[in-house]
Amino acid sequence: MSRFYLTTAIDYVNSRPHLGTAYEKIAADVIARYKRLCGIDTHFVMGNDEHSQNVFRKARELGEDPLAYCDRMAAEFLDVWKRLDISFDDFIRTTEARHKAGVQELVKKMTAAGDIFEGHYEGWYCVSCEAFKQEKDLVDGNCPIHRTKPEWIREKNYFFRLSKYTDRLRHHFEWHEDFLVPDVRRNEILRLLESGLEDISVSRAGQAWGIPMPDDPASVIYVWVDALINYLSAVGYGTQPTTVDKWWPADLHVIGKDITRFHAVIWPAMLMSAGLEVPKQIFGHGWVNFRGEKMSKSLGTAVEPLEAAQRFGPDPLRLYLVKEIAFGNDGDFTWERFEDRYNVDLANNLGNLVSRIAAMAERYRGGRLLGPGQPGRLAGIAASCLEDYQKSMDAFALEGGAAAAFRLIDATNEFIAGTEPWVLARDPGKSDALSQVLFDVAESVRVAAVLLLPIMPASASEILRRVGEVKKVSDIRLSDASWRADGERVIAKADALWPRTETSQRSTRVEETKNPGAVPASPAAPVQPPAPAPGAMTPAAAPTDGKIAIDDFMKVELRTAKVLAAEKVSNSRKLVKLSVDVGTEQRTLVAGIAEAYEPEALVGRTVVIVFNLKPAKLMGIESNGMVLAASPEGGKPTLVGFDQEIPPGTRVR
Ligand SMILES: [Zn+2]
Repeated sequence: MSRFYLTTAIDYVNSRPHLGTAYEKIAADVIARYKRLCGIDTHFVMGNDEHSQNVFRKARELGEDPLAYCDRMAAEFLDVWKRLDISFDDFIRTTEARHKAGVQELVKKMTAAGDIFEGHYEGWYCVSCEAFKQEKDLVDGNCPIHRTKPEWIREKNYFFRLSKYTDRLRHHFEWHEDFLVPDVRRNEILRLLESGLEDISVSRAGQAWGIPMPDDPASVIYVWVDALINYLSAVGYGTQPTTVDKWWPADLHVIGKDITRFHAVIWPAMLMSAGLEVPKQIFGHGWVNFRGEKMSKSLGTAVEPLEAAQRFGPDPLRLYLVKEIAFGNDGDFTWERFEDRYNVDLANNLGNLVSRIAAMAERYRGGRLLGPGQPGRLAGIAASCLEDYQKSMDAFALEGGAAAAFRLIDATNEFIAGTEPWVLARDPGKSDALSQVLFDVAESVRVAAVLLLPIMPASASEILRRVGEVKKVSDIRLSDASWRADGERVIAKADALWPRTETSQRSTRVEETKNPGAVPASPAAPVQPPAPAPGAMTPAAAPTDGKIAIDDFMKVELRTAKVLAAEKVSNSRKLVKLSVDVGTEQRTLVAGIAEAYEPEALVGRTVVIVFNLKPAKLMGIESNGMVLAASPEGGKPTLVGFDQEIPPGTRVR
């Protein structure tokens, strides 16, 4: 049986986890659950980084014993992870005895290899980063990350001959193209390796909080070196050699993009020095920003993950983070967008579908559906979604996995609309056709739920129960996402999984009543509007002179967008589906310009879109915005264009 050892970065405990921290754990959890779904023996480790001077100072500030403080914080972290349904197999704390044993063992090996030597260090040290900073990296004399002034430190240190490993590291990167992904991170490190590596300090003097150097208890091991070794000590390095043999080397370290240098340079060099294998792969994910700003406790832009999870339960949050952020890129969280996605994906789409099949099964078949013995029309779509899902998930393109599951959900909703079971039900001669349709819908929902198990574990399990899956969830494997056409399904009726959110309903209502009032018709001279052309929109109530205030215009956010991909929407003459770059993110939108433009001719073009338009579904595709075009009477539309290059995301006004 193949095995998979996966880790996340371990966290400093000087503050509670924010949504950015939680994002990493959720993404890693989705990967771990996917591997288990594939039947792979998986070991998923998380932990806390406790030997930090920040932690020590914070505990002192609070008048607490540092270890007691760490115990308390560990309980808080574990509570958050549990409530987000993170399925780690082990949680390591760097103050544990097993970790200390592992750290000292590895440093002894590095010393025996002749790679640790004594010297003096002086330089700028940022306490918050727990790292020395080079003069050239400071911004106005401050740490570029923390915006605080680093301290000038001179002390006796032990050093690691990192420079000795430059060539081996270069070689390793050359021969293992996917050692560090995505490519943008790999390229950063390749540039660093090209410029050559300097030896690094691996100890600190005059500190009591930390793990002592094996032969010099007056020095403690530098917190970063200490922390990296958790990946080994968690699987028994220094205490249980047989488990190390089973799990090492790690298959995947999931980390933030800011700490790739530690993981892709220093860590493998330490392992090479100790004669151990290096991890197979490192994934440097991006940030979740809050309203476009980096999430940070110290900058006051942090979102509490529990608050976000409490809004609708952990699964909608997990889905949002996985589906809305391309794993590896930066993404954004806003409460408005989170609610929008909840309503679109869950309340209106998946949740509604689960309620519909339950209601129809109950009404037309007393809650029992019999397999027709042959796969219906949805089976082919389900198979292609499964294939896409697997491809994406294997490549850690988690957003692609989520999208594949939702492609099947969309197709199932369209299938219901197209087959009209309620019409079939009126004709006794179409009873077999109705049975096939109902079973196919239930089966399609079941397949989608299997695909969603890693992303939304509790909800997907509940959906499986409702559509009559009899296997225990822990026994379900990806092979169970293959289409089944036989057997009986008992479909359970229950409350809506995700009721539409109140807040959004309220805000929609406010807008609906607000709009007519915003442009009042003049009572003095009522103007008879001209008879609208067939199919044209009738203006609700236009002011007499037909003019609007600048404020009204500014409510419409027009922006430039660059077309990345374009394809015709099947079964539609007019519609084309576009993937566009809007500067801050990638979006899908549907435009009625297929008669005037070949899809290939659109790629690379800059268009103008209504950026803040509410999402709308067109032919089952959710369109996030509207493309502007001149539409002459009886002629073909012509896109609004520019006579020079304009970067995507530029406001048009
Ligand atoms: Zn700093």
